[in-house]
Amino acid sequence: MNTPHHSDLGATLEQSRSGLRDSHRRSLMRLLFLITGSALVVFACLQFLNGYPWVGVAELCASALLYFGVWRLKSTPYLQQWVYAYLVPLFAFFLVIMLLPEASVSAFVWVLMMPVLAYLLLGKKEGVILSAPFMIVGGVIYYIHLDQVGSLHAMIDLLNMVLCGALMLAFIHMYEVRREEAEQRLVDMAQTDALTGLANRSNFQGTLNRTIAECDRSGAGFALVVMDIDHFKVVNDTLGHEAGDFVLKNISRCLTERLRSTDFVGRLGGEEFGLILRDVKPADAFVLMDELRQRISERELSYGDARIRVTASFGIAQWPDHGREAESLFRVADRWLYSGKRAGRNRVVGAGHNPRQLEILTVEAG
Ligand code: GH3
Ligand code: MG
Ligand code: MG
Repeated sequence: MNTPHHSDLGATLEQSRSGLRDSHRRSLMRLLFLITGSALVVFACLQFLNGYPWVGVAELCASALLYFGVWRLKSTPYLQQWVYAYLVPLFAFFLVIMLLPEASVSAFVWVLMMPVLAYLLLGKKEGVILSAPFMIVGGVIYYIHLDQVGSLHAMIDLLNMVLCGALMLAFIHMYEVRREEAEQRLVDMAQTDALTGLANRSNFQGTLNRTIAECDRSGAGFALVVMDIDHFKVVNDTLGHEAGDFVLKNISRCLTERLRSTDFVGRLGGEEFGLILRDVKPADAFVLMDELRQRISERELSYGDARIRVTASFGIAQWPDHGREAESLFRVADRWLYSGKRAGRNRVVGAGHNPRQLEILTVEAG
């Protein structure tokens, strides 16, 4: 059996849940830094012309810092810290320009930009935590500002602003919730075998790699089992492909019913399944799989008028005795599986605890 190296697709998709994926966030941040840095140069010139040289100097300094950020963001491992270091001063800056005595009413539109940026860069939870307080403070400053203007329409202006800000926050929140749900569905689909509902090959491979890493740290052992249904082609050839699918679903259910909560099962492809039995000694793994073998062989499935009985062969490899890598474990489990097939099928085949002995244990069909 081939054991190609699949990337852990589930884990990769998982990363994207906190807002955009890392690489996307990185390029978005660089673009924002570039735009903000350039905008600040223009604003600094205007501040000098307006007679606020200290504001202009501060803006030029901030602009230089942002250009430095464009370069650093290419490779920094502290992306999250950069996001906060950008958003917090930016939101504070929005508030400061609103506080200026001659602040134009249009300066308050920046409050509406807060949730957009925060959700895009931080995701749902941190996005609301950061943007909501700043928006509330922005609203209060706007209220004070309108009071100073003393216009008859001040109340309507305030209502417009509050309503628009609240709706903006609500819509972006709803959008982010939907996006996360859709992404979760994609993650599930990418990890699940559509016919049986079991973990698919890529998911199984990822779990196996994680189990190896965990056992490397903890020193616990586990067994990798490869199981293949015997003469499955006969089911398809005599009763049709749908009957074959029916058997596959049924055997999958049987596997999940019989396993312990710490074990993991996946469909490796066709009529071949993989099992990870955690914290199990070789002899116990053997007994556990032999019980499963017996259960499968005794199970009579009704498909229309037909009664179907299938058997399966199992190959067991023990970590770390038969290899520390997924690939070598698969090779050993496959070797035992096919020696079981050659010996007549409906067997569990594994090696003795000492790999040099390679003593084959087999169970004859009942
Ligand atoms: P062996 O005991 O040596 O394993 O014999 P076998 O017939 O089980 O093995 P073989 O590899 O010759 O045939 C496997 C068959 O499984 C061939 C293929 O059509 C069938 N198969 C693979 N995937 C599916 C599936 O999703 N549904 C159905 N119904 N059949 C499938
Ligand atoms: Mg088969
Ligand atoms: Mg096969």
